[in-house]
Amino acid sequence: MKQNLKDLTLPELETYFERLGEKRYRAKQVFRWLYQGVDSFDEMSDISIALREKLKEHAEITVLKIVERKISKQDGTRKYLFELSDGNMIESVFMKYKYGNSICISSQAGCRMGCIFCASGKDGLARNLSVGEMVDQILKVEQDAGEKINHVVIMGTGEPFDNYGNMSSFIKIINDKHGLHIGMRNITVSTCGIIPKISAFAEDFPQVNLAISLHASNDAERKKIMPIANKYSFDELLITCQKYTDKTGRRITFEYTLIAGKNDDIKHAEELASKLQGLLCHVNLIPMNEVSELEVKASSKPKVQQFLKKLQEKHIAATVRRELGSDIDAACGQLRLSKITL
Ligand code: SAH
Repeated sequence: MKQNLKDLTLPELETYFERLGEKRYRAKQVFRWLYQGVDSFDEMSDISIALREKLKEHAEITVLKIVERKISKQDGTRKYLFELSDGNMIESVFMKYKYGNSICISSQAGCRMGCIFCASGKDGLARNLSVGEMVDQILKVEQDAGEKINHVVIMGTGEPFDNYGNMSSFIKIINDKHGLHIGMRNITVSTCGIIPKISAFAEDFPQVNLAISLHASNDAERKKIMPIANKYSFDELLITCQKYTDKTGRRITFEYTLIAGKNDDIKHAEELASKLQGLLCHVNLIPMNEVSELEVKASSKPKVQQFLKKLQEKHIAATVRRELGSDIDAACGQLRLSKITL
């Protein structure tokens, strides 16, 4: 099988070139071309024709195919549907903020976490994305939108900590100054709370922002909406978060999607505030986006405001997330594996 060059970090590409009997610095030249968005060896003009031919024989540069794009009239958000080489579909969302352009990328085709309010997990996991498939979401969106992306959130379809190895190489490539040169602090990873990987992440990427989907104020309630809570308890999760902040000195973002009648009562806000007291964190309240096939309903606006007020009263830093792209089903939880939503 041919080696997809976009799956390799720069040190890995250098080793690969050595194995092909080539000089390491050639790897850097090729790496630069790849992340300038070049998809064919023939466009790599400072690489000899002989080496290009050799690369064609042993390696390949796979690319994602844009199947469909939707552009929000409300705020310019763009949602992309990509087809992978095996026919699976994934989505990415491009968003414009005052501070720059951001992309929300997928880490898996489908998801096996099964959170009851999320459309991405409805059909289970198809497979992990390769490193190249993750990077290519950025390259293709930059090309299509004609704009540079400077913030990356791994918050699309999939659980990034369920694909930890590929996620790690992805972060290294986009951070590399010869790659996309996106600062570690401009990258955010969102997880449903896979504890061993949170600890590994604190060691491996202390500068990358960590967001944790909490969505409940205690263990029993969390188990009702997030199956992962059966594996890792609420208390264990918060202990791990404390260790994370002790080690990294970085604030954790807790995502809390407000679901009518499940987790949006004032008593939940009080309980949450007491559990998070003293932890270096920020709570991001997410008004739930209703997904037609799912039973759960969104909390009302006054409920959301009341929840926010209670957290703030208890001195917990909290904000309500502004939803972009809701007119094109691009908001959280609305990314779907299948083409039918488009
Ligand atoms: N698996 C990761 C990342 C993908 S989900 C995680 O769990 O964090 C990204 C965020 O969108 C999570 O906080 C998730 O809970 C939230 N989300 C999922 N479905 C939603 C919905 N219907 N409405 C609002 N937010 C939702």
